[in-house]
Amino acid sequence: QYYDGQFDDARLLIHLCQTAAERGAVLLNYCEVTGLTKGADGFIDGAVAIDLESGREHEISARVVVNATGPFTDSIRKMDDQSVKNMISPSQGVHIVLDASFLPCESAIMVPHTKDGRVLFAIPWHDHALIGTTDTPLKEVVEEPEAFEEEIEFILDTAEQYLHKKPQRSDIRSIFAGIRPLVKTEDTENTAALSRDHTIHIAHSGLMTICGGKWTTYRRMAEDAVNHAAMLGQLEERPCPTRNLRIHGHCEEAENLGDLWIYGSDAYPIRDLIRQQPDLMEKIHPDLPYTRAEVAWGVREEMARTLEDVLSRRTRALLLHAQGAIDAASGVANLMAKELGKDAEWVDKQVQSFCAMASRCLPNERGVS
Ligand SMILES: Cc1cc2nc3c(=O)[nH]c(=O)nc-3n(C[C@H](O)[C@H](O)[C@H](O)COP(=O)(O)OP(=O)(O)OC[C@H]3O[C@@H](n4cnc5c(N)ncnc54)[C@H](O)[C@@H]3O)c2cc1C
Repeated sequence: QYYDGQFDDARLLIHLCQTAAERGAVLLNYCEVTGLTKGADGFIDGAVAIDLESGREHEISARVVVNATGPFTDSIRKMDDQSVKNMISPSQGVHIVLDASFLPCESAIMVPHTKDGRVLFAIPWHDHALIGTTDTPLKEVVEEPEAFEEEIEFILDTAEQYLHKKPQRSDIRSIFAGIRPLVKTEDTENTAALSRDHTIHIAHSGLMTICGGKWTTYRRMAEDAVNHAAMLGQLEERPCPTRNLRIHGHCEEAENLGDLWIYGSDAYPIRDLIRQQPDLMEKIHPDLPYTRAEVAWGVREEMARTLEDVLSRRTRALLLHAQGAIDAASGVANLMAKELGKDAEWVDKQVQSFCAMASRCLPNERGVS
């Protein structure tokens, strides 16, 4: 038997961000770096960033700038030096989600050799079946990657040989694509410390880039990055605590927390919220497991600013049931508007842009690529 671990990537990321904030980090959401600043000595000493909500530009000074922007790594490196060769070779991966009846068990299926030599997984995930993935080289990095028709067909054709029943295209609840920031072989520029599957690169200007790697190795990546940054910033040496650091939400009894188990210890304050405001117990959609309390919590405690934040990256509504997320959009946007003090125009814009994006996750709304 083969064992592996599984998790919810967005939830772990939110809890990591909260852990960082609790330990003194200042987090900025919807703030885009548009340039880097340099001192008279040519060393990078900060970044220029735009607050995408207010449109205001800020200059932020820094002893060390760490570029950890995944698929966008090269766009930041080019802000330092237009002439650098790309380090990233973008590769698209697509997943589809079916309901649990296609994989009615607690074990996952791994297909080690598909007909074109790839690996395919079918995994029980949030009471659904998650099937993927593909590995499609992309010429360029796009902000909203979209599944190609042949990727969907490949997943359906392969999965039907192994699942409990044959999935039709109309059985797909959601389709989503991501870009893996794979590292090319090194260019000739200066210091590169290659460590297992991630790369740390330090440019002549002092810009430090960490790229490649996987979620599986994120603590090791963090340790390497922080140790290099501390050295570059000439900080006092001290051991990195990540190996044994408990992250936000740590809880010994998560299995007793019912539907809110994914929040770990945050399940308790969310339950308190429902006790104080019982209408928040209502679900956002009959076919989705999420309550209005989780929307309020996302806005109040997890920096959710847009409908997409709540329906895709705080809850996983869009990934589990794209049509359900579209149907829930208006109700969720109205609740968010109340929490954030926004008006009806904001609600309309949010619903419109979310539904346009979410429709691309539906199986039958897609043009053939
Ligand atoms: C299909 C697929 C399957 C995968 N499967 C696995 C797996 O099974 N196991 C595993 O361990 N890993 C897996 N991974 C890999 C893992 O998800 C990636 O390694 C990881 O997401 C990359 O993390 P990152 O932090 O480097 O980049 P990202 O998660 O892409 O984060 C980069 C961040 O930088 C921000 N950013 C970019 N440009 C700017 C700018 N100018 N200003 C401000 N912010 C900016 C972006 O908004 C984003 O938030 C998979 C990835 C994909 C795509």
